Amino acid sequence: MCNCLVCGNKVEHVISFGDMPIANGFLPEDMFEKEKFYPLDVGFCPTCSMVQLTKLVDKEDMFNENYAYFASTSRRMVEHFKKFAYWVMETYLSEDPFVVEIGSNDGIMLQNYAKENIKHVGVEPSENVAQAAREKGINTLSCFFDKENAQKIKAEYGEADVIAGTNVMCHLPYIRSVFDGVTSLLKPQGVLIFEDPYVGDIVRRTSYDQIYDEHAFYFSVSSVSYLAGMHGLEVIDALPQNVHGGSMRYILARKGARDVSDRVREIMANEEKQGLKQLSTYQAFAANVAQNKEDLLTLLKRLKAEGKRIVGYGATSKSTTVLNYCGIGPEYIEFISDTTPIKQGKYTPGMHIPVKPYEAFVSDYPEYALLFAWNHGEEIIANETAFKDAGGKFILYVDQVRVDE
Ligand SMILES: [Zn+2]
Repeated sequence: MCNCLVCGNKVEHVISFGDMPIANGFLPEDMFEKEKFYPLDVGFCPTCSMVQLTKLVDKEDMFNENYAYFASTSRRMVEHFKKFAYWVMETYLSEDPFVVEIGSNDGIMLQNYAKENIKHVGVEPSENVAQAAREKGINTLSCFFDKENAQKIKAEYGEADVIAGTNVMCHLPYIRSVFDGVTSLLKPQGVLIFEDPYVGDIVRRTSYDQIYDEHAFYFSVSSVSYLAGMHGLEVIDALPQNVHGGSMRYILARKGARDVSDRVREIMANEEKQGLKQLSTYQAFAANVAQNKEDLLTLLKRLKAEGKRIVGYGATSKSTTVLNYCGIGPEYIEFISDTTPIKQGKYTPGMHIPVKPYEAFVSDYPEYALLFAWNHGEEIIANETAFKDAGGKFILYVDQVRVDE
């Protein structure tokens, strides 16, 4: 058994998904033989309550020049980050503001600061994504955020009012070094704000597809509080977010520097009630995951036996966990339609289902579409009226496996 990446104590085993390919490793046919697989195992630390991967993938295998996630391709996310940026500007900036973003992607959030001429630095390890940001005029460094690079940023730009990160903190297994960097870079009144999938939602909704190689941690307010306390920080606020299928925004400051919102205590009391600090809760989750797999396979087998066509909707990183864990390949799913050009013409990691442009879906509607982009589900189902009118139905698997009627 391994030791906790946060507190160093023993981690209890929760679930094994088996060997998985790189979740975002969409690949051409001539790369099939070279594809790498890693065990995907989840553990829970009874000491600090952190849910985490217990075997890690080399970060260079995940975030490199082939990295295919450009955040700005989603209009809904562009809106979300714009709102986020202006909320930060109004709430947390001093008169001489400086904002650092960890995992700034293609500049989806920082572009709002650039537009307002606010001093900013983005830290983005994927060179091709960082380059896309620079072309938009966003100051971006291609490196990983850790203690050493935080000190370099401080030496060049000074201390930060805000260090922000969305869907990135959970990606960083060396989180202790990240937090060391944060504490050395923040102004005395500065805040660290980050947003990641919330383990309370994952457990409640059995959304196990949030679990994949990039996500080393599955945070709760309780576990983040423990981590903060180890670095002289505290959670001053926690705001549930309705994106990515249930996320939490955490706001941390130096201990005693700012008031702590009542919400923090309330959410932690709810976490206690939900059992997020108990191993048995995660063991029950593991049983629900196994049941979800069985239900999905039963449904797909029945539809195929009836001769139905099934197409995947959204070649997400999340889909890699579902497809490989359930063993769903091209015999069930004809292709997956996706609007991201870099994925089109390639195949899904591990199960090698072809990824085709959205037009392939529209030009010849299947009878069923398995919705992998379920976190945008409401928006998608509302927009796909022509598919529905043609008799098409969506298959959903979060909360429970079902056909959307
Ligand atoms: Zn721990």
